[in-house]
Amino acid sequence: MFDKILIANRGEIALRVIRACREMGIASVAVHSTADADAMHVRMADESVCIGPAPSSASYLSMPAIISACEITGAQAIHPGYGFLSENAAFVQMVEDHGITFIGPRAEHIRIMGDKITAKDTMKALGVPCVPGSDGGVDDVEAALRIAQGIGYPVIVKATAGGGGRGMKVAQDAKGLEVAFRTARAEAKAAFGNPDVYLEKYLQRPRHIEIQVFGDGKGRAVHLGERDCSLQRRHQKVLEEAPGPTITAEERARIGRTCAEAVAKIGYAGAGTIEFLYEDGAFYFIEMNTRLQVEHPVTEAIFGVDLVRQQILVAAGQEMEFRQEDLVIRGHAIEVRINAEKLPGFAPSPGRITQYHAPGGLGVRVDSALYDGYSIPPYYDSLIGKLIVHGRDRPEALARLDRALGELIVDGVDTTVPLFTALLREPDILSGNYSIHWLERWLATRFG
Ligand code: ADP
Repeated sequence: MFDKILIANRGEIALRVIRACREMGIASVAVHSTADADAMHVRMADESVCIGPAPSSASYLSMPAIISACEITGAQAIHPGYGFLSENAAFVQMVEDHGITFIGPRAEHIRIMGDKITAKDTMKALGVPCVPGSDGGVDDVEAALRIAQGIGYPVIVKATAGGGGRGMKVAQDAKGLEVAFRTARAEAKAAFGNPDVYLEKYLQRPRHIEIQVFGDGKGRAVHLGERDCSLQRRHQKVLEEAPGPTITAEERARIGRTCAEAVAKIGYAGAGTIEFLYEDGAFYFIEMNTRLQVEHPVTEAIFGVDLVRQQILVAAGQEMEFRQEDLVIRGHAIEVRINAEKLPGFAPSPGRITQYHAPGGLGVRVDSALYDGYSIPPYYDSLIGKLIVHGRDRPEALARLDRALGELIVDGVDTTVPLFTALLREPDILSGNYSIHWLERWLATRFG
């Protein structure tokens, strides 16, 4: 086992990894930008290294600075968290070339899944059901029009290098497709340096269902059921729950087995998430994330497992602590993402926290790096915390969420807490009857 792990991240996820390290008796190294010198992850780690100025391009994304920090502190492994360098195959290669262990899958698997066209081809070949669409990339408008004719409108043009909800354009008809195709390519080139796009049928009222998988890198893999992340704004998740309110045990077992077998076949190592759109009882693969997800705590809650601990064990060449038959769902969990944003426009709201109080009690977990007097820097993601509740069933989890939100105090900045309080008064949310378009429509009618 490792003696020391460096966490190449910040905020709540850096804290999350430090906590797992401490419970395993592993020393932790925090890295930080000059803007994060007073951050909680720096305070909580055993050691810390400043790796550069505030912009993440010069700090959290600086591969040489992070590798140097490892060499200076003698850390034997790097946990990348999510975002930043977590899905960067070149970084994984560089880490390994320096004799350091990357806590995550092999560079090869990150590369395959990082290109959505290759990912889709690979999954299709592994027997995973996909959204109907183009066979690979589409190079010109004529080809796009021909393919759309075949699958039927509406269609969505997606960037093969896309991520974070960017590089997607919906077209309702041929005329719209000509515009969507050109703008998607231009945006993809500007955002990702790769203009390649592909076409998919645009599903009208799907749910976003994702399967958590875990591989040992030696050909064995399990699944930990699904998370429903259908409540989205601008293709970004806002609230996540597990199990999915509409998924039956039979469906879970079937799609879960398909996913576990697929990742086992490629010798995948560590945590991964296979994302699907789900409509009328059918699953359609959209992408795979080769890292820990923001919403992993809802899965941890219902299965009672520590996914970060398992990631570290597998990276160290040890066995996962569970087999498929050990993984039994208990109750229901819901996570809400608390962002420092001002409603209704969701504009970032950085600034100083004048008062902070985290909720507690049975079934409540808060993953946050906030503290009294902390100043949220304007340079990074606006996620400032996650509130996760666990109940015996969905109604209990909902009641607990309402109660916990009422206890939470974050003064000094605007947050998305009022959004969740309002959502908990909506019959569709209470009954679990919502598709990926529900939240945008609700926001439009309330604030439009
Ligand atoms: P990203 O990597 O940018 O997150 P995804 O492929 O995971 O992109 O898609 C993000 C979201 O976009 C999905 O959760 C869904 O809301 C929407 N989306 C993607 N593909 C389709 C599709 N074929 N039909 C309808 N909505 C889609």
